[in-house]
Amino acid sequence: MTMHAQWNDRESLVHPASAPDYMREEQLRALQLQRLRAITRHAYDNQALFRERMDERGVKPEDIKSLEDIRKLPFTQKTDLRDTYPYGLFAVPMNEVVRLHASSGTTGKPIVVAYTEEDIEVWKEAMVRTFACAGLHSGDIIQNAYGYGLFTGGLGAHYGAEALGATVIPISGGNSERQIMVMRDFGTTAICATPSYFLHLIEYAEEMGINWDDLPLRVGVFGAEPWTDEMREYIEGKTGIKAFDIYGLSEIIGPGVGMACEKQQGLHIFEDHFMIEIVDPVTDEPMPDGEEGELIITTLSKKAMPVMRYRTHDITSIIAEKCECGRTIRRINRIARRSDDMFIIRGVNVFPSQVEAALLKVEETLPHYQIVLSRHGGMDQMEVQVEVTANVFTDTVRGVEAVHKQLSDAIAHILGIRVKLTLVQPNTIERSMGKAKRVIDNRNK
Ligand SMILES: [Zn+2]
Repeated sequence: MTMHAQWNDRESLVHPASAPDYMREEQLRALQLQRLRAITRHAYDNQALFRERMDERGVKPEDIKSLEDIRKLPFTQKTDLRDTYPYGLFAVPMNEVVRLHASSGTTGKPIVVAYTEEDIEVWKEAMVRTFACAGLHSGDIIQNAYGYGLFTGGLGAHYGAEALGATVIPISGGNSERQIMVMRDFGTTAICATPSYFLHLIEYAEEMGINWDDLPLRVGVFGAEPWTDEMREYIEGKTGIKAFDIYGLSEIIGPGVGMACEKQQGLHIFEDHFMIEIVDPVTDEPMPDGEEGELIITTLSKKAMPVMRYRTHDITSIIAEKCECGRTIRRINRIARRSDDMFIIRGVNVFPSQVEAALLKVEETLPHYQIVLSRHGGMDQMEVQVEVTANVFTDTVRGVEAVHKQLSDAIAHILGIRVKLTLVQPNTIERSMGKAKRVIDNRNK
């Protein structure tokens, strides 16, 4: 494929691969329906679990006559991918599978995902459209600090960046000193990483005496863990780059399911390949546009392992209004919350991202924090440990007490309860090379 040959003009506005982003609404919905019918048929004929559940409900593939009929289909849960480990959901013979990836399960067996040659092409195209959303072109030098290997992040971004016509540096994660050296010496213009790893690189660069203004880096493509708009503003303010939120999950395809555009108001979903719904996580009832619920995704083109109505546990809402960037594919709001991440303290639902948003509103806060949960006498306790700038500990005008009170109030304001707060010196909290561990749960120890 030489699609990038047509994209060597920096003045061009639309990458050829991005054409579906601008499709007319009725065309897009017609295409979705056509693909939904085909993938339902494919999954029914080739995936035993899906067929079983369809038969239980008395639903046949030909019952899908409109997009709303998707609600007749059964959900897929993450446990379904685990229970059928390793190959139980594959819908093509093994000789048509050209790639396997796996996600590291926190407990027990990982989940395995498969791609045909065509699936790989779809993924690559979705990643080209992702990078195009961030304004990247051929001529850009993309430092890919996502982990290479079974994790989908590394190879997903790699092939997309090549297909875009950009130059890829396949550096993978870790070795921060080399990351900074390469960033400076190779003239990196864009970096792909988890936001928490990039925060670590910011510190490292400062220690090395690097001035961000001297680097050609202008774009960050950050994802694979929830992060807030406050964190984005921190990163942008600190480095002068534009930080884009990328969305994806291995179960669906990997990175490249959705991406923020330059307007930075939500993430566009590549709806011609991924059909989205929002449901009430408790009642499973569909939620209207603009209202929050659980994001459900159906792969419309994936052959090796179609995933029908996948329950992502990501909490968001659909933005139906047209984006000022001109793309007609719809957006979802930034996913800062996963229902899996939620914990309950004194009867209050708490998400780590709420704490992050509260902390970063206070000037002296560094974006390194941890939440420690413990149990004393049957009562759950929550402690927030957060790093603050070194001068907080020496400043006599606005010292520790003042900053402590302000942060404490900010958290109480968002959560509605008071929790223990500990201010710590810079570089106290362990840094992450990949996904950050924000919550330490000692309640059952
Ligand atoms: Zn847009």
